[in-house]
Amino acid sequence: MLLNGIKALVVGMKKSGLASAELLARHGAAVRATDLKPLDQLAEAGALLDCLRIPFALQTPSVFEGCELIVLSPDVPFDLPPLVEARRRGVRVIGEVELAAPFLRGRTIGITGSNGKTTTTSLTGHILRDAGAPVQVGGNIGTPVTAMVELSRDDGWNVLELSSFQLETISEFRAHIGMALNVTQNHLDRHHTFENYAAAKGRLFETQRSGDFAVLNAEDPVCVGYAQKTAATPLWFSCLRPVAPGASLCGDQLMLDGELLMAAGDIPIRGRHNVENVLAASIAAIRAGVTRAAIASAVRTFRAVEHRLEFVRTVSGVDFYNDSKATSVDATLKALEAFPGGVWVILGGKDKGLDYSLLRGPLAAKARAALLIGAAAPKIAEQIQGSVELVDAKTIDQAVTHAYSHAHPGDTVLLAPACASFDQFRSYEHRGETFKQIVNQLQSKE
Ligand code: ADP
Repeated sequence: MLLNGIKALVVGMKKSGLASAELLARHGAAVRATDLKPLDQLAEAGALLDCLRIPFALQTPSVFEGCELIVLSPDVPFDLPPLVEARRRGVRVIGEVELAAPFLRGRTIGITGSNGKTTTTSLTGHILRDAGAPVQVGGNIGTPVTAMVELSRDDGWNVLELSSFQLETISEFRAHIGMALNVTQNHLDRHHTFENYAAAKGRLFETQRSGDFAVLNAEDPVCVGYAQKTAATPLWFSCLRPVAPGASLCGDQLMLDGELLMAAGDIPIRGRHNVENVLAASIAAIRAGVTRAAIASAVRTFRAVEHRLEFVRTVSGVDFYNDSKATSVDATLKALEAFPGGVWVILGGKDKGLDYSLLRGPLAAKARAALLIGAAAPKIAEQIQGSVELVDAKTIDQAVTHAYSHAHPGDTVLLAPACASFDQFRSYEHRGETFKQIVNQLQSKE
């Protein structure tokens, strides 16, 4: 992509928008920047735009006029009316990952899915790094891809977490190893239909070529469908049956390409879903040249990423787990699956239009009570009523207090809310930190 002299607009001035603006400016584009918020409410934007001499204007329909290229931050919907109009005029509208594609050196492992992306991206990066491979980790997980360009190298690996929003607009971006962990109901507020959401993620496999690899969940019908749309070689993973080529759980042994990798009991992160994450990461790692022994040894030293089924502490025999990142029903189901029973589960927050009735069976089987918080509480109560005792806790503070005072030794108090956090908290991190703070202040019952 030739950027020199091109008139470009960057929409959204958070981390990825700023990195895009910087890359465009460095390649000689005439860049403008916009956001719904004024500059004084955008943390680092003012100073950086100033330094790069990039003009900023508040986002109005006229801002979108007079440009040849529009680069979107992941939280900007692709179907905003001025963007639809711009595309009609022939303007190229892309995301930050697509902008980075022609400049990113080395080979890429692109990881997507509804749940498990961050864990599997961190784990894959950890395995490659531990084995001594030159590796950078980024994308949705932290460093924007455009900001990884400068340190990328021809013999290196870029391990990228990719969301549906980032993949929706790719055409040149290509992963040598693409990975889809699972595709379940999520982000319907933004993609409108499940089919659109699945198709956005599927772009990852459509841009692959022969000689590339597609690491896919053999038990997920949408992932199975991706195998039909790719020129890459499919490699499967499954916790339910042997699959080849790929990785599977057989009894309590993890098998990789038909040979023993490690015992499931040696995986330090909890739950069947994390076995799937290990299987998927191991397939990518072995294709990246890491040996079985090195993969197994790296997995043993991996620790849960913060807010992902993270163990907080045990007080008076009650275990507390922070899974604030469980912002979808599916993630909450996986969290419940990771415990044998005796769970006090905190549910609620901002509703994303999901179907909470899917929780009924697992709640009845595993939970002592559901403690409801936040704006989604009435909807959740209506959909899970009768399956488990409901406590109208309203806040995390009251939920923890109630659960702790009623819990018996051996029970687990689990924050796995199945909702976004934005009604009571700035972010899921803020929600998880609040939970941990409250838990860390609990006094022992003796
Ligand atoms: P993402 O980046 O896709 O949101 P995370 O690794 O941050 O994924 O995990 C998000 C939530 O999903 C956590 O609650 C975690 O316990 C759960 N989870 C992790 N891996 C999986 C998986 N393979 N399948 C289903 N749920 C998962």
